[in-house]
Amino acid sequence: MTMQRCTNCKTTLTAAAVVCVNCLSREFENFDVPTEGHLVSWTTIRRAPAGYSATAPYNVVVVDLAPSIRVTGRLAPESPPPSMGGLVHQVGEENGCRLFVVAGI
Ligand SMILES: [Zn+2]
Repeated sequence: MTMQRCTNCKTTLTAAAVVCVNCLSREFENFDVPTEGHLVSWTTIRRAPAGYSATAPYNVVVVDLAPSIRVTGRLAPESPPPSMGGLVHQVGEENGCRLFVVAGI
């Protein structure tokens, strides 16, 4: 998996950006990030917004991939249940959302 960072100040960009949120530079570079990380938090969505109700209930997760890289995503439907601090790995993307599964079970 790759993410973007500012070539000037190395700030990681978590969303599509036109300028760096730290130094306003317009120069970005891609860099590789791990596909495994630890689960920081999650919540179960039972009443989903329009367009997602067919997939409810589902878990939205917050994952630390590296010390300074925290991302959000969704737990894949086939995943075992989440546990705080548990290891998860990314298995794909769906509509721009990272899909994770609980690892090591
Ligand atoms: Zn910058």
